[in-house]
Amino acid sequence: MQKFKQAYTNNNWLNASSDYRVKAGYCWLCDSKPKVSWRFLCWNTLNIPKNSFIFWVIMHQRLLTKGRLVRMGIIVDGSCDICTAALEDHEHLFSDCQYVRQCCALFQGREAETPFFYE
Ligand SMILES: [Zn+2]
Repeated sequence: MQKFKQAYTNNNWLNASSDYRVKAGYCWLCDSKPKVSWRFLCWNTLNIPKNSFIFWVIMHQRLLTKGRLVRMGIIVDGSCDICTAALEDHEHLFSDCQYVRQCCALFQGREAETPFFYE
C-alpha cells in the first residue's frame, strides 16, 4: 500500500492537471508483461470462450495433467492412461504420446509410423 501511495503522489495524480484513473493505477501497479505471439489464436471473436480459456490454460502449462497432480502429491501414479508408457504431462499429451501421433497422422491423411489402435 505504501508503494501505491508513493505512486499516487509522485505521478501527479493529486494535481488537477492529471486526474487519477483506476486504469492508470492498475497499469502502473502491474508490471508490463511481453505480449505473446499466440494471443490472437487464443482470444479472437471466432473462438468459443470455453475453448479460448482451455487453450490459454494449455499455453500456460496449467492443465491438471496426472504428472502435475503427482507433483502436487494428490495422486501417486502419473502414467498416461492411454499408452501407459510415460508420465502424463503437456509434452506427452500433445506431442509424444503414441496415440496422439497416430490420431494426428489419421487427421492429416497419412499412414501412422507405428499402428497403435490395433495392438
Ligand atoms: Zn500416452
